[in-house]
Amino acid sequence: MRLITHPSCLAHDPGPLHAERPARLRAVLDALGQAYPTLSWHESPRATRGQLLRVHTADLLGDVLGVRVESGTVQLDPDTYLSPFSAEAALHAAGAGIAAVDAVLGGHARRAFCAVRPPGHHATAGTAMGFCLFNNIAVAAAHALDKHGLARVAIADFDVHHGNGTQAIFEHDPRVLFVSSHQMPLYPDSGHANERGVGNVVNAPLPPRTGGEGFRAAWRERLLPVVDAFRPQLLLISAGFDAHRRDPLAQLLLDAEDYAWLTGALCALAQRHAQGRVVSMLEGGYDLTALRECSIAHVGALLA
Ligand SMILES: [Zn+2]
Repeated sequence: MRLITHPSCLAHDPGPLHAERPARLRAVLDALGQAYPTLSWHESPRATRGQLLRVHTADLLGDVLGVRVESGTVQLDPDTYLSPFSAEAALHAAGAGIAAVDAVLGGHARRAFCAVRPPGHHATAGTAMGFCLFNNIAVAAAHALDKHGLARVAIADFDVHHGNGTQAIFEHDPRVLFVSSHQMPLYPDSGHANERGVGNVVNAPLPPRTGGEGFRAAWRERLLPVVDAFRPQLLLISAGFDAHRRDPLAQLLLDAEDYAWLTGALCALAQRHAQGRVVSMLEGGYDLTALRECSIAHVGALLA
């Protein structure tokens, strides 16, 4: 098990009032360091231009990397900003997924958790949006397909928001299965059950106040059986902790134990089909207490 992170991910600063703030990652790293003192920590490299271009347009790379921000912020969309160190953070956040995939497919670790920001799952091929600059999990999946030659990669996204970017990038690629639970209605207003891609997308939208029991039922009855039938060679997780009951941006009312349960269930499927190989990436989660509790629960289940 590897924890992959980079100091630059703490330096991306979208502004003093922004929910996606450096303190989020500091809370996760502090909690994991205290709870699991023997965890093996690794610094992520920068993703290369070629690795990013597998899923992103040259225009998006220009939007994120081509702007010199001397101070303050530059706005890319109503929620998404660049600060002086954002490009560096975005490169290392995407690079964490590359390093994690190389580690688990190279046999150096069975599992990896990428504790990085900015998050990624809203970024589409050509657009930074919803706090996300590059789609970190999509860059990781494309690396597993193109560099390592895998034929089946599953992405399980339990962030409370729909991973519209990840879905849009892979909805025509049957080598990738994308399954997601998310609150609806909620930003970004996609992820309806009738969005099926080429049969490789399964969405389980959940109403506000669903709670842990309904969340677990959705995964047990609708999403986990699809992952099982797909027989992924690698399981990727978009791990957002904003469905927790304390989160200020949503109302799904989960507890940390629900994340431990789902992570355990996903690891069991990886054990059956993927030699146990799981790469998880931090996405959302905006309450610091919930982030501490949930990251400890999630990584605890990855370690089990
Ligand atoms: Zn989210």
